[in-house]
Amino acid sequence: MLQRTGGTLLQGDGQQRLSGVSTDSRQIQPGEMFVALQGDQFDGHAFVEAAAQRGAAVVLVSAEFVQPSNMQRQWGGLTVIAVPDTLVALQDMARGQRQRFTGTVVGITGSNGKTTVKEMTAAVLEQHYATFRSPGNLNNHIGLPLSWLRLPSQTEVCVCEMGMNHLGEIRDLCSIAQPHIGVVTNVALAHVGYLGSLDEVQQAKGELIEALDSDGIAVVNIDDPRTRALGERAPGRVVTFGRSPEADVRGRVCADLGFDGLQCELDLEGATWPCHVALPGQHNLSNALASAAVGVVLNVPAREIVAGLEQYRGMYGRMAIRHLRDGVMMIDDSYNSNPDSMRAVLQFLQQVPGVARRLAVVGDMLELGEAGPSLHRDIGALAWQCGLDELIVLGELAAMMAEGAREAGMASSQIHTVTSHQEAVAVVERLAGSGDVVLVKGSRGMKMERVVEGMLAMA
Ligand code: ATP
Ligand code: MG
Repeated sequence: MLQRTGGTLLQGDGQQRLSGVSTDSRQIQPGEMFVALQGDQFDGHAFVEAAAQRGAAVVLVSAEFVQPSNMQRQWGGLTVIAVPDTLVALQDMARGQRQRFTGTVVGITGSNGKTTVKEMTAAVLEQHYATFRSPGNLNNHIGLPLSWLRLPSQTEVCVCEMGMNHLGEIRDLCSIAQPHIGVVTNVALAHVGYLGSLDEVQQAKGELIEALDSDGIAVVNIDDPRTRALGERAPGRVVTFGRSPEADVRGRVCADLGFDGLQCELDLEGATWPCHVALPGQHNLSNALASAAVGVVLNVPAREIVAGLEQYRGMYGRMAIRHLRDGVMMIDDSYNSNPDSMRAVLQFLQQVPGVARRLAVVGDMLELGEAGPSLHRDIGALAWQCGLDELIVLGELAAMMAEGAREAGMASSQIHTVTSHQEAVAVVERLAGSGDVVLVKGSRGMKMERVVEGMLAMA
């Protein structure tokens, strides 16, 4: 272990076997290694003792932290390893794990739908292979290495989500994960605030394709011109997916079942296969096709691809349908938000049948940079055009959404500006009646799950 970190043993046993690695002292399990990372807001070194109390076996600290004053403290039976940079050491440990792995690596990036495609792809692949997926949303320079350090030894295929805010990040993640198959879901406005333009987003997503070697396979969305164009940068084979008749892996929606998802048809193995995708929203056809395409590339039989897709039921906070009291329905899409995913869900709301009134509790869409206010205005106008009956906004940018809706024609009495999650719940409680549907959505930083929890408590 000492070897893998490239560090210096300050105390304890450098040969200990570890049951896992964590950077969060609140979640660490006995027998794990705690890696003290220096963040913008917190310094993990302040939590070494907390980690030790929860049973951490080993702590990895930066050499800088180990001042004589700190060394006076005794950390009991703890093994302490010092490295020049704990983040680099974490990434190097993951790189080592990757190099020992002899199976197949699937990397997934794109502006929208990464986690969904990661989960659906794993659902498809696990019909046929011992499959590991990066847990939750662990998709960045810390999360990806942590995922690799949790890889079970018998894994045959590892499916990793790769996210980014800046150019070069996907390239760095690829240097760790070294994917054989690279999937790009789409190129859209998410995180554009950091990147400046769609060209740069495209460039950033393209880093996954460019990181493939000539034996690698690029899996790209043919229906999105910018993503399709990325296929041209692939050093090896390209497999396309989408609605287009030209796609290698094609499919279509036969019936939109609203809250019950989509009844689709997939063209696989020269035949047409009916497939029920349990996730609502037509954009999930694209996610299902991306996952099916990875199945095709890895020779999963069509029957198993369909079975995997049909079994997938979605994740908390991503278009999860919840039934509340008095026949009120909630769409919990609280996990995240950006203009494209807002557009997708508003369009879903507009056409979903059997709904009395449509309400939305929306928080800010963050990370949009200078374009933020005008993008919020546009979404506000769209909300009105999509037939929203009541708009409840939380946050400074979301207030621009309210303005956009007002300018587009929504009455002031239909627009409610709130200043807390609690107040949002109270407004919903007052307004929602039988047959109504309430969307809850906002960027991660807006913690809209608190509105969801409040609404569930009122159920
Ligand atoms: P993050 O950048 O936060 O990791 P992500 O790319 O992993 O996001 P998901 O978590 O899979 O995306 O989905 C988030 C939301 O984006 C969904 O709830 C849905 O509203 C929307 N979404 C999912 N797939 C698509 C898609 N293919 N096109 C447009 N919107 C999508
Ligand atoms: Mg994600």
